[in-house]
Amino acid sequence: MPSFDTIIIGAGPNGLAAAHRLASKGAKVLVLEAADAPGGGAGLAHLSYNLDPRVETAMNLAAHGLEWLDRNLATTVLSPDGNRLRLEGPVGARIAGDLPEADRAAWAALRARLLRFAAVLSPLNQMTPPRIVRGAGNPMGKLAMIALRARMLGAAEVRELGRILLTNVHDLLDDELSDPRLKGALAFEATLGGWLGPRSPNSVLPWLVRLAGQTAGVQGALGLPKGGMAELGSAMARAVVAQGVTLRCDARVTRILVEGERLVGVSLASGEDIQAARVVSCIAPKTTLLGLVGPRHLDAGLYTRARHLKARGGAAKLDLRLKAMPDFRGANLKDRLILAGSEHDVERAFNPVKYGRVPDHPGMEIVLSEGSLSAIAQFAPHAPDDRDAARAAMLAACLAQLEVHAPGIGALVERADILMPYDIEDRHGLPGGQWHAGELSVEQMLFLRPLPGIAQYRGPIPGLWLASAGCHPGGGVSGSAGWNAALAMEAAE
Ligand SMILES: Cc1cc2nc3c(=O)[nH]c(=O)nc-3n(C[C@H](O)[C@H](O)[C@H](O)COP(=O)(O)OP(=O)(O)OC[C@H]3O[C@@H](n4cnc5c(N)ncnc54)[C@H](O)[C@@H]3O)c2cc1C
Repeated sequence: MPSFDTIIIGAGPNGLAAAHRLASKGAKVLVLEAADAPGGGAGLAHLSYNLDPRVETAMNLAAHGLEWLDRNLATTVLSPDGNRLRLEGPVGARIAGDLPEADRAAWAALRARLLRFAAVLSPLNQMTPPRIVRGAGNPMGKLAMIALRARMLGAAEVRELGRILLTNVHDLLDDELSDPRLKGALAFEATLGGWLGPRSPNSVLPWLVRLAGQTAGVQGALGLPKGGMAELGSAMARAVVAQGVTLRCDARVTRILVEGERLVGVSLASGEDIQAARVVSCIAPKTTLLGLVGPRHLDAGLYTRARHLKARGGAAKLDLRLKAMPDFRGANLKDRLILAGSEHDVERAFNPVKYGRVPDHPGMEIVLSEGSLSAIAQFAPHAPDDRDAARAAMLAACLAQLEVHAPGIGALVERADILMPYDIEDRHGLPGGQWHAGELSVEQMLFLRPLPGIAQYRGPIPGLWLASAGCHPGGGVSGSAGWNAALAMEAAE
């Protein structure tokens, strides 16, 4: 039996990115994955919006099978009367369709401003958050580059950045635009993967985080890999194996083993124990701390704060097998389709979810391929009283929404599967089915993510590191948290 100095828990994008970086620096790495295949949440995902360029390049994903079918996918915004908009280029650089001239000009200005602000913040994604404690030198020094970039925007822009960071998506859109289709699509986009509606406080910052991502060097562009996003996960796994990492699937970790004050390895569900001096948990911090480490090895304050970590997912995943391709009133079926209604509809879809109920009119992001339709439907309750009833109601609501936009689609459905946030938690281990393995809300960002005191990837026990989407800078199939954590481990050696 070979021995390993590093065990990584979870072969999602972050686990694979961390494994690759550590192995490339000489570590003997074992990755343990509970599922029967690697890739984690990449298998749930539709599109790439924030694959970390460091990860794509260093792992040489192209050599391991990553091929982009489209690096700049267009979005069609559906409308029940067929009067749709087509957002072309990154983040709707051009809009085709019947849109008032005033909205075109206002969107061009707002889009440019949002992208500028997101670009100022984007270097944050590639750094370990500063530690805000006495004796930590000048923690804000790390942020000096961001401050400098912001200052280069000029005083008026800095004031505007401050203003929009504190406002909400609804008000920001309402100040500038009038067309409900455009406002609805943007409100949907801004809240995708979150547990917040467009009117929720501070909802612009998570949108800027999303807009900071890039595909093939283009900020805000959406990428569609050949074979779908699961192929991106597979390419990462192939790269890791080629780097000499041992990857074991069907290997669920049930315990992180601690002796005295120090971590010594992990136990698997099979009963096997594996020793290693360093364990990198690339599953949600809440699960790691409460489930794998346990209260015995945590101080009471940290345990309580971990219990209070917010991890509510609001996205359901719908998969339809179809006898034939549907007709979305002539829309280009190669586009990403967004069905959101107006900005008010997006908010209305969030309202019942707060109380554990299913919305009548969920919004959807739809991707079609031969014989199948995949949709991310928002919002869906993560903790309804009756899970089966909520799942059935959500499926019915989604099918009804689709029927409005693609009349006759119901008759084409051969098979329909829907995963609610709690199904995603049960199958994939994301607490609450939360896209970011912990909500990406202002109070859980940067040096507060996942929790103050453990926001620099170093866990609360010597030898334990945290590196999932629940850590800075959050989720998406990016590998950023895993890569940043590996750099922090190198710096600590
Ligand atoms: C419905 C939905 C749609 C999404 N769509 C997109 C999208 O279109 N684009 C995008 O970029 N992102 C999308 N995301 C987000 C993205 O999937 C995640 O943010 C990302 O996968 C997080 O990466 P990770 O490596 O931190 O964790 P994960 O991908 O969750 O990987 C963790 C891995 O750990 C394994 N694991 C869990 N517990 C254990 C254990 N005890 N022992 C061993 N292994 C374990 C899991 O099986 C999993 O493989 C979506 C998420 C959801 C829920």
